[in-house]
Amino acid sequence: MSVLVVGSVAFDTVRTPFGLATEVVGGSANYFAVAASFFTDVRLVAVVGEDFPDQHLEFLRGRGVDLRGLRRVPGKTFRWVGEYGFDFNEAKTLDTQLNVFADFTPIIPEDYQDSEVVFLANIDPDLQRDVLRQVRRPALVAADTMNYWIARKPDSLRRTLQLVDALIVNDAETRQLANEPNLVRAARTIQSWGPRILLIKRGEYGALLLAEGEWFAAAALPLDSVQDPTGAGDCFAGGAVGYLAKRMRFDTVSLRQAMIMGSVLASFNVEAFSLDRLRTLTMPEIEARFAVFKRLVHFEDLAAQPGASR
Ligand code: AMP
Repeated sequence: MSVLVVGSVAFDTVRTPFGLATEVVGGSANYFAVAASFFTDVRLVAVVGEDFPDQHLEFLRGRGVDLRGLRRVPGKTFRWVGEYGFDFNEAKTLDTQLNVFADFTPIIPEDYQDSEVVFLANIDPDLQRDVLRQVRRPALVAADTMNYWIARKPDSLRRTLQLVDALIVNDAETRQLANEPNLVRAARTIQSWGPRILLIKRGEYGALLLAEGEWFAAAALPLDSVQDPTGAGDCFAGGAVGYLAKRMRFDTVSLRQAMIMGSVLASFNVEAFSLDRLRTLTMPEIEARFAVFKRLVHFEDLAAQPGASR
């Protein structure tokens, strides 16, 4: 099945306690597309400038990402500069240069209009609705957003949320969006506005799923080398939504597996700067880590252990 993703493709400059990466390829749709491409066909709608390297576009094509919706226009590609301290859950944005992204109006090619699954990466909620107006009846619409849009365009965002099946945001965004400090109540409030599925990312603490009135908690894998958390959220979304598109089932069993698949892809991505770890990643590695995640949280029933009830 096909996933359509609409969002940013960027040059990122990122400093973490482990190093500095200057003008490396990033962007939310880029991370999402690469992560999702392990599971399904991906169609990318984005804009880049004349300075964007063909080599990366070749890499995306090599992963089976359809780039007919990627426009290259005169000007410079979107640039983001960020920094992380020892707390990798919090990115500090030092600079954002929208460049060609400032005039981005997503045009969905006719061949993409039948996409079964749509992921609206973090863009203006008005544009997110524009995308949905151009597609025919996707089986699943998933979306991301960020504090910038929650603060500046709350009404537009609420209108977008009415059209979204699965919202993928972090815990701070969940609280801010619902204007509610309690995460459980905040999640239920957001559900009452539209999205019946909520995937709440909690950085190095894992992620939570709320669907069909039930919570599911995915742990994050304790890793001994985390280089750069940039794109972890988008890789989580790419792994989760890509996996759902492969199965084309959105029941709680599939959603729970998708939560782990998202966590697996994010865990690989943070091991290196930019998309570097995903460039060499293989399906057997993904499957092996999926099994590690299962073992991480598996425990026996009390009844399975003689004497445990004493
Ligand atoms: P994440 O770490 O998953 O939240 O996403 C990081 C990516 O988002 C980086 O590669 C940036 O290029 C991209 N990004 C940062 N700010 C914005 C923005 N305002 N709009 C769209 N993409 C952005």
